[in-house]
Amino acid sequence: MTADPEEKPEGAMNKYQLKKLIKELEDIRGRNTELVSLYIPEGYDMSKISEFVTSESSEAENIKSKHTRKNVQSALDKIGRKVREEHSTPENGVVFFAGNVSDTQGRPDIQIWEVVPPQPIESRRYRCDKEFVLEPLQQMIVDDRVYGLIVCDKNNAEIGYLQGNSIKTAYSLDSNVPGKTRAGGQSAQRFSRLRKEMLKSFLGEIAEKSKKAFMDKAREDKLLGIIVGGPGFVKDKLLDDDYLHQELQEKVITRESLGHAGEGSLKELVNRAEEAIEDSKAVREKQKVNRFLKNLKEENGKSEYGLKPVLKAMEMGAVETVLISEDYNHYRATYECGQGHEKEIYEQRPEIEDKIDCEECNEDMKLEELQDIVDVMAEKAEEMSSNLEIISTDHEEGKRLMNMGGIAAILRYRIR
Ligand SMILES: [Zn+2]
Repeated sequence: MTADPEEKPEGAMNKYQLKKLIKELEDIRGRNTELVSLYIPEGYDMSKISEFVTSESSEAENIKSKHTRKNVQSALDKIGRKVREEHSTPENGVVFFAGNVSDTQGRPDIQIWEVVPPQPIESRRYRCDKEFVLEPLQQMIVDDRVYGLIVCDKNNAEIGYLQGNSIKTAYSLDSNVPGKTRAGGQSAQRFSRLRKEMLKSFLGEIAEKSKKAFMDKAREDKLLGIIVGGPGFVKDKLLDDDYLHQELQEKVITRESLGHAGEGSLKELVNRAEEAIEDSKAVREKQKVNRFLKNLKEENGKSEYGLKPVLKAMEMGAVETVLISEDYNHYRATYECGQGHEKEIYEQRPEIEDKIDCEECNEDMKLEELQDIVDVMAEKAEEMSSNLEIISTDHEEGKRLMNMGGIAAILRYRIR
């Protein structure tokens, strides 16, 4: 069993696009239970789906309210037409949303959205409700950085990921290493050598699968750390005898003693490692700030700080990592006047006004949108494949960042 948390097939939406769409769909509310959501995983027979949609549409005949009935049927008809256009489900599957978005009763406006998501849809779902079912898609836009997990003893190994709060198993391995009691007739020496060799090859296999599971993430700087655990000496051998790839070995943040290996042990490992995970966050934050400070000191052009320079570098796609202090309290206010002129202002909250004068036509400009800088930056980071780190002010490095204005960037290349 493999679970690669990253890998977007062609034609699928990227996370940034998906995030935007989710925002749009979240705001839509049906007057009644008339918004249809249909999730189809890869590999489904589309003609079966088409039959299903048709039968749901005739089922909808039973809806008492005339308006609701018409809206549900129109939504299903639209989906049915789209389904019939598809010969097979795309890689990752497909999601249809359809329903009435008009606020005026009796004047329906039935819209449809077709989404091929950036990650596979896990299960088929159909619902007709006052809002769209978005939870499976929301899952796909959470932070894609992970901790790598390895639990092993001489019989089993579990390799997986911790992403946010969810734990995923990537590999479950069994070994053939025999117990200490040897079968009759074997010499003790030979038996002991055999056991050692089998253990060695099992450790090699664990290392190999760990490489498969974690290496890409490590190279994308999305591996936050590796946590190793197990009940006995095997986990120590894995680490102390340098079985793991050097780049992975450097990522190990803790080793924990556990009651068992095998099924369910990844969860126990995460519970045990809670403190180490917290510490590793601080270590990571400090490293990032120090890299920024080092660039600054060396005057190599690979650092920027202050909102305007960071924003500019961000828009050029030059930012590897943007650092924002948790105490940085700025917003982006977007204004628009009656003539359609627009203006963006970056400010702290108390300074933000509801109305300003338009510099072009002197009319009033009204505040249209207020967005936290962290959200603005997160969106841009997603778009430009930059990393974003929120830096706490609990440590010296974090305080220095805040003293320098609260926002800074490590650049991929110099821009001036
Ligand atoms: Zn104007």
